[in-house]
Amino acid sequence: MMKTQVQTDINTVAETEINPFRVYHFGKINNDGNASMKNLLGGKGANLAEMASIGIPVPPGFTIPTTMCTFYNEQGRVLPTDLKTEVDQAVRLMEEQMGTEFGSEANPLLVSVRSGARVSMPGMMDTVLNLGLTDLAVQGLAAKTNNARMAYDSYRRFIVMYADVVKGLNGEDFEHIIEANKAKAGIEQDTELSVDQLKEICLELKELYAKLSGEAFPQKPQDQLYAAIEAVFDSWNTDRAVLYRKIQNIPSDWGTAVNVQAMAFGNKGETSATGVAFTRNPSTGEKKYFGEYLINAQGEDVVAGVRTPLPISAESAKAKDLQGQSMEELMPETYIELTQVFETLEKHYTDMQDVEFTVEEEKLYILQTRDGKRSGFAQVKIAVDMVKEGLVDEKTALGRIEPASIEQMLSPIFNADDKVKAKDKLMGAGLNAGPGAASGIVALSATKAEWYKKQGFPCVLVRTDTSPSDFGGMMAAEGVLTVRGGATSHAAVVARQFGKPCVCGLTGLVVDEELKTITYKGETIKEGDNISIDGSTGEVFFCKIETSPSEISQAFIDKCIDPNQSEVCRHYQQIMAWADKYRTLQIRTNADTARDLNVALSLGAEGIGLARVEHMFSSDDRLLLLRQVMLAKDEEIKNLALSHIEHFLKEDFTAVFKTLDGRPATVRLLDPPMHEFMPHNDGDKAKTAKALKVSEDDLTASLGDMAEHNPMLGFRGCRLGILKPELTRVQVRAILEAALELNSALVPCKPEIMVPIIMHENELIHQRMLIDKVAEELFAELNARVDYSVGTMIELPRAALQAGEIAKHADFFSFGTNDLTQTTLGISRDDANHFLPTYKNGVSDPMTGTGNFEVYPDDPFQTLDQSGVGQLVQVGVKGGRDTSENLKIGICGEHGGDPASIDFFHRTGLNYVSCSPYRVPVARLSAALSAIRN
Ligand code: PEP
Ligand code: MG
Repeated sequence: MMKTQVQTDINTVAETEINPFRVYHFGKINNDGNASMKNLLGGKGANLAEMASIGIPVPPGFTIPTTMCTFYNEQGRVLPTDLKTEVDQAVRLMEEQMGTEFGSEANPLLVSVRSGARVSMPGMMDTVLNLGLTDLAVQGLAAKTNNARMAYDSYRRFIVMYADVVKGLNGEDFEHIIEANKAKAGIEQDTELSVDQLKEICLELKELYAKLSGEAFPQKPQDQLYAAIEAVFDSWNTDRAVLYRKIQNIPSDWGTAVNVQAMAFGNKGETSATGVAFTRNPSTGEKKYFGEYLINAQGEDVVAGVRTPLPISAESAKAKDLQGQSMEELMPETYIELTQVFETLEKHYTDMQDVEFTVEEEKLYILQTRDGKRSGFAQVKIAVDMVKEGLVDEKTALGRIEPASIEQMLSPIFNADDKVKAKDKLMGAGLNAGPGAASGIVALSATKAEWYKKQGFPCVLVRTDTSPSDFGGMMAAEGVLTVRGGATSHAAVVARQFGKPCVCGLTGLVVDEELKTITYKGETIKEGDNISIDGSTGEVFFCKIETSPSEISQAFIDKCIDPNQSEVCRHYQQIMAWADKYRTLQIRTNADTARDLNVALSLGAEGIGLARVEHMFSSDDRLLLLRQVMLAKDEEIKNLALSHIEHFLKEDFTAVFKTLDGRPATVRLLDPPMHEFMPHNDGDKAKTAKALKVSEDDLTASLGDMAEHNPMLGFRGCRLGILKPELTRVQVRAILEAALELNSALVPCKPEIMVPIIMHENELIHQRMLIDKVAEELFAELNARVDYSVGTMIELPRAALQAGEIAKHADFFSFGTNDLTQTTLGISRDDANHFLPTYKNGVSDPMTGTGNFEVYPDDPFQTLDQSGVGQLVQVGVKGGRDTSENLKIGICGEHGGDPASIDFFHRTGLNYVSCSPYRVPVARLSAALSAIRN
């Protein structure tokens, strides 16, 4: 017998033992699988076997493993004869257990055929129910159950489902027949159809089937079964399943298993029912059974919304004004049995379960269980509760929380109902660059945003892109929307740093500053009109939607509510305490003002990993000083500007170091792409010319001399400090003067001075000599000393490759993965959105012409490109530590707040990650998860 290639991680079954043509039985007898065999049997198949083995009432059946799906797809999509033989034998075993027979006129066996991948892909693949019904078997079922109505009801459902799933025939044509018959009979509900009407419907459905497919409805159950198995395998590759896999990063070679299971009938009358339930509330996490059911119905009725399902618990029924209609009230004994199953399953799986059940004439059957999907809030609550209940330990509980759920807890939120109501005003979606919801009126300039704020109008700053001169406006606005720019664009970095919701790169949005309008897909609104942006999803609405700050912000940042009075805050604190207990990475923050540092510290930051000096130049008068240093020909003007700069920087550093109160502080010397700091409009140019005491024409000429085609690869970073040493000088003096002042006030402070954009060790040697010289001069001048260290950013591929040489002159390294990504991939941080989103979403496949060809799966500026940029990080760490064994190494690019990247940094042996203030909690949790996992 031929063997197919199988993945090596197929759980407990050794690779050599896997026979791809065998099937795995489940049920009271012949139970072949268990919960650990999800890769082979799919989640559903593995759990059915597991449930059967712990005595849960599961109708018997068998699972065709996922390996067969891969085999089937690779071998031209035909079921192998060997498998058919196995399936026939397995059916015979089911017949023996059930005392029934496939296709029997007296006592037919009916089965369901369902998909089931390793991880649940809800609703993405196909299912066929009531398989085995034929013109003869339906009579057998009617006679055996003494319930002709149920038999023909099942037959008509089967025909429609088979036509749709197996033959791909349009379901609506079939539904028309049912609706027409109901209308003819003058009834509204399917349940009111009589036996004769159902018989007539079955006849008409079969005729339509024959007409559309060109063949009679199959009357051999074996043929039905083989075709249904093929259809389920085929459904692994439907467009929606492929899209879902892409979004969830599920490899396409995992394949789906097929579960064939004896049918339990929820449509046998008033003592039968079917439903879906969670063992806890999946939105809030509350420990209350939460589910819906329908009497006299089959599974798809609950999901399809043909009839409105009812709550299972009396309490929820009461809350919805449906007293007396819950399962608890109408089927009290079965309900108790069901809740006992919930308890058993939760204890057994030690997690919240999502359970599918059917009641056939008061007998309860469980058709599926899986770990229930839950909201971020529910993830946290359930984790905390389960530790308290002794169900799981702290590490397991933490492992069940996705870092994104902490972000969700921190973000301002749109009222869910209001968002649904606003769906007509949903314009489109850009890049979800800064999580959270913001609503306000459109402001098209920073000045206008600040003015609106002063007038008390919340606004959203809408710009083509932003630059440092927009900073004030960004702070004044509730959120920021830009046409250009990606996850590390100025707007995104600043917005995240300050917890501002931000949507970037809404390509196609036209901002007309003259007409004061914005237009998107033909819809135009004016400055001052309402707009709402959801930075968690990237959605943009041309209307107002109400928001409120998260409870965590209110308690820990604004300190306007008592965290002990808020359950969300208590849970958050508990999760963070556990995270801090298990993580080994330190968490620092990227902050340059006492204000954002305070936010970061209240969210648990342990120091500053990156203070960007250029961010301290965001006000107009400070910008002017920098322009004077860069452009003045008059030495006096230049020196005066330098002395002002030294003065305000010292003030700013003092405030920052004081707030740090002894925690470490890495200050990165000036690294502005110069074009961002030069005057752009006439008013600004006039002001600058005046300050320089030159004519506007002279200024324009100087600006022309300075202009660069690629400023990001131009005169920035250490290059600036090397060619304009006076700039390094004032920064170093300001940093050390501030540190000296604090030390004299007995506040410990040992600044870490960081040199940016190093490509060659000589650049660092130059800057280090200069720093040490300036320091010695200052210490002599003030007759006092302070400890400091000098390190470098590793942001260029050559620096990573030559880290061993560079480390000879550095006390520490910090990876600047924003620039390292830009320079390794050769993709500009500011221009990537022209093609990167399309790369991710899929471009036209040259072979098929469909838009499914995925060039690059993630945004490399958000999630580290581990195989490329990551390799350089590894090389850099090794080089650095080969030279200096205990070299302290961190990372301060935007990836420092990204969970997957943090996992990589943990594994690569970094000492800390540094991220924007509002990402600190996510980083704490992610670091703990990495420590637990690795
Ligand atoms: C980086 O390049 O990763 C970095 C942190 O520096 P910046 O974003 O300021 O260029
Ligand atoms: Mg950089």
